[in-house]
Amino acid sequence: MLFVVTAHHSADNCWARSENEEKGEGWVDGMDETAEEAGVELHGAYVTPNEHAFYFVLEADSFEAVTSFLGPPFLQDHEAHVAPVMPLGDAPQIVLEN
Ligand SMILES: [Zn+2]
Repeated sequence: MLFVVTAHHSADNCWARSENEEKGEGWVDGMDETAEEAGVELHGAYVTPNEHAFYFVLEADSFEAVTSFLGPPFLQDHEAHVAPVMPLGDAPQIVLEN
């Protein structure tokens, strides 16, 4: 299953702040390893610094794997919305079948 994660943090919790920089760099540097350990394939990781937002495109067999990927410290500083998604081209057939 594919998931699109949108995660926001406050300006106070921004990982670009000097007091949070070590935590942020550590998480980002280890992101690929964290994904592998969680059973998540990381298709993309993006950021809009001005909006204090991260975006991920993940593929996983379970929601639990996504939750593991977003585990501490990530969700200590972010509020996340996780949307399961499908290829747009598949939607009409599935919607019309139901
Ligand atoms: Zn920020």
